[in-house]
Amino acid sequence: MTPATLLKLAKTHGTPLFVVDHAELRRNYATFRKHFPRVQVYYAVKVNSDPAIVETFYKAGGSFDVASMQEFHTVHQFIEDLPKKARQDFIWDKIIYANPIKPTETLRELDQYRPLVTYDNHEEVKKIAKHAPHAGLALRMRVPNTGSMVELSSKFGALPGEAVGLIEYAHKHDLVVEGLSFHVGSQCTNPQNYIQALHLCASVFAEAKSRGFDLKILDIGGGFPAAYDDSVPEFSTLAKSINHELDRLFPEPIEILAEPGRFLVASAGWAVSKIIGKAFRNDKTCYYVDDGVYHTYSGVIFDHCTYHMKSFKKGTPKLCAVFGPTCDALDTISLAEQLPDLEIGDYLYSEKIGAYSAASSTHFNGFPPAKVVHINQK
Ligand SMILES: *Cc1c(COP(=O)(O)O)cnc(C)c1O
Repeated sequence: MTPATLLKLAKTHGTPLFVVDHAELRRNYATFRKHFPRVQVYYAVKVNSDPAIVETFYKAGGSFDVASMQEFHTVHQFIEDLPKKARQDFIWDKIIYANPIKPTETLRELDQYRPLVTYDNHEEVKKIAKHAPHAGLALRMRVPNTGSMVELSSKFGALPGEAVGLIEYAHKHDLVVEGLSFHVGSQCTNPQNYIQALHLCASVFAEAKSRGFDLKILDIGGGFPAAYDDSVPEFSTLAKSINHELDRLFPEPIEILAEPGRFLVASAGWAVSKIIGKAFRNDKTCYYVDDGVYHTYSGVIFDHCTYHMKSFKKGTPKLCAVFGPTCDALDTISLAEQLPDLEIGDYLYSEKIGAYSAASSTHFNGFPPAKVVHINQK
């Protein structure tokens, strides 16, 4: 995507604008497949649940990680036309319900699909046994999230010492635990998180086996880092060390799943906003734009992510601040950007803003989410 194309789209469609390049989605999917040939890809729908994005990954051969009924139906609409008898296998193959905590209403609705669901505690086993007795289970393990941008283990996950007890408990409730899952934290730039998680799971596999439980699936979760800047380690290097341990510790016929989210969509999203106000405060120029942290830039708050604002105009860069359109002071995109002198009506854009951005837009203060434009759809 060239800045000229982006500017043209903004002038055609108006701002705030969120552009998704489906050619980039397909490239990211292909890259993941290439480096993880043994791993089945379950796109984590929460990262951006736009049905067009789901459709592109579906057409590329992808499967899906969902965490709510809404996400389940977004995915399921694309597989509705499947012959009934293939359905059960197909759902297992295409969808994992990877939220360890599920409302009973959700379990009741899911049961007809004989879903694969995650869990990590005794109460959840009792709920599943009662409301979704046809479900298959994956035990979510707590693993180190050291150095990941977003921590995902304090809320979920069984400790290694609890694991086999929880597998046995499910068995006593006539449920089958198919395997283990974990999440090393999002934007994980520390390969050791994966390595330690794999070692931990290997010991649970072994202990389970000695107690008569044969685990068949290992779900290595998400966390695969997007190349936001040069400090992010090479994907191929990370994949190589993970694959090495997978082959050593989890040989076939153990099935390996992954739930990448950010890696697949971050680089496929662009945001364009327009300057709607300008002031001089605290020794710097303050620009007010028509998109902010309640909208496409929500990742500044929820994702602990920094996005740089870029100008379509050239000029000597000067220190400035960029704020969103709402009345809340929290609506601050950045207090330290380098931009040329700009006027009201000029446009700004950000790259690599496809993940955890538009997905958590709100209507706060009466400002609607950015318009979404899809390009290069097949
Ligand atoms: C959020 C989430 C993912 C996606 O994580 P990324 O870091 O974006 O790859 C995968 N699995 C689970 C269970 C999640 O909660």
